[in-house]
Amino acid sequence: MGRIAILPENVTEKIAAGEVIERPASVVKELIENALDASATEIEIEILGAGKRFISVRDNGTGILREDLRVAVQRHATSKVSSEEDLYRLRTLGFRGEALASVAAVSRLRILSRAKEEETGGVLEIHGGRLIEEGPAVTVGTTVEVRDLFYNTPARRKFLKSDRTEFYHIFNTVTEVALCYPEIRFILKADRQEVLNLSPVETPQERILQVFGSELVESLLEVQKGSLHLFTSKVESLKRGRTNQFIFVNRRPVRDPFLRSAIYRGYEELLPKDRAPDFFLYLNLPPEAVDFNVHPAKREVRFRDPQPLYTTIYHTVKEVLRPKRQRTFSPQVRSYETAVPSSGEPEQIGLKEPQASYTPTDLLYIGESFFAYRDGDGLTLVDQHAAHERVLYERLRKGEPKRVDLLFPRQVQLPQREFLLLSQCLQDLSEMGLEMEVFGERTLLIKALPEFLVDLPIEEILIDLAHSISDTTAPSRTEELRDKLSRTLACHRSVRGRTRLSHEEMDRLLRDLQECEDPEHCPHGRPTRVRLSFSDLRRLFKRQ
Ligand code: ADP
Ligand code: MG
Repeated sequence: MGRIAILPENVTEKIAAGEVIERPASVVKELIENALDASATEIEIEILGAGKRFISVRDNGTGILREDLRVAVQRHATSKVSSEEDLYRLRTLGFRGEALASVAAVSRLRILSRAKEEETGGVLEIHGGRLIEEGPAVTVGTTVEVRDLFYNTPARRKFLKSDRTEFYHIFNTVTEVALCYPEIRFILKADRQEVLNLSPVETPQERILQVFGSELVESLLEVQKGSLHLFTSKVESLKRGRTNQFIFVNRRPVRDPFLRSAIYRGYEELLPKDRAPDFFLYLNLPPEAVDFNVHPAKREVRFRDPQPLYTTIYHTVKEVLRPKRQRTFSPQVRSYETAVPSSGEPEQIGLKEPQASYTPTDLLYIGESFFAYRDGDGLTLVDQHAAHERVLYERLRKGEPKRVDLLFPRQVQLPQREFLLLSQCLQDLSEMGLEMEVFGERTLLIKALPEFLVDLPIEEILIDLAHSISDTTAPSRTEELRDKLSRTLACHRSVRGRTRLSHEEMDRLLRDLQECEDPEHCPHGRPTRVRLSFSDLRRLFKRQ
């Protein structure tokens, strides 16, 4: 008997599925593409558990004819391509007829669809490739529900990353497609919370604005030349670190290092080594000039004639960056009163250097915010808020606060000016544990927070933060900026913290305070503790 055998169908199916469906975001991408091919104008995506548990994509497109429903989930079943020639002049996103079959092979799939021209639609349920249920559906359009992705391919399931990571892949997938289709409404709900709702707009520029906000849009130059439409960073807006770089070919997001390098080359000497541009490159080429049949997930593209494309992009970038007169954008930041009082040395009566040693059992509350302890032959009084502020402030300045990553980032919409101010110092804030991204018009997306801010009203804090930096015309030196931000954050926590500390907490606070560079003052210069020595007491009681 020979050693070579043809693989059974259940194995080949899973191999094929693995090529198309790598993770929850791949499902989302394929289902959105189907909705777009069906001329939908509204696409709503819902996920639970970062798409591992549940994904549904609902559209108001043409729908699937009842008789086609069972065919649609078979491999190589498509309504989009019927001959080999069709492959070379694609006008649809899908063409391989593999997506639904692949999803069906590795999940519990349910499709509800009704074609516009039919009175009733159909429901089809398939578990790991086996047909479970059929029935009628009522609403026009299609909903595809995918439960328990990879439940029958545990190896693949194990390769999935954390919910946070998988969610980001989904989020990016949706925004990427949305950037290609500004005229279509996209809604994304994660664990029943709406995280995106992009209303239809007319131009790519407006969509970029919805997704990334006005600061980014204003940092870009726009140029349109035949089949090319490009938004790319002004020279003065080049960034350090991560940037937003997108290439869309015939309304598909693609990764293409070759075209990317054409853009970089356009900057040439204007691009410092440690900087990178943001760009959005839209190319619309005749279908026969590009081949998308390269990669199972259609991420890559082959150009019939790449060289002229490279040259056009390179020259376009070069010209747009070096015009006769260049417009510049500098946000108008008016100076105005900061929420933080200026630091002046308040009077300190009878203050002596306290000793480092104390007996925690002697700790004693006086009112809401002071406590006292016996300290050698004297008495030390502590303002717990001032002390706490000092500790937090120094930690923030050193960039060491304990941070909490939010599984589902929080959106905060701010007044325009506050939004602008904060979006200028996202990097500094992130080093202090407050990680945020610009997310649409006047909106920041909070991804991580210093632990001590978790239960506080974040809008208020953000507005205060913005005010604290607005008294300098341009948040100039990083040192100075960070100092202000740290002060404001520290202030928020301790001003609002009306909690009574336990003995252990008081103890901890005193130790932390002792480790501070300046344990004697809060960041605004008020004393954190006052010591009355034995002789001070004698003096106070007129014994001297
Ligand atoms: P492809 O998109 O490559 O044709 P799919 O497996 O993704 O392959 O889909 C198979 C077929 O099912 C499509 O060709 C289309 O006719 C139909 N279909 C899938 N999703 C939808 C949808 N949301 N609306 C209308 N028809 C759909
Ligand atoms: Mg498809």
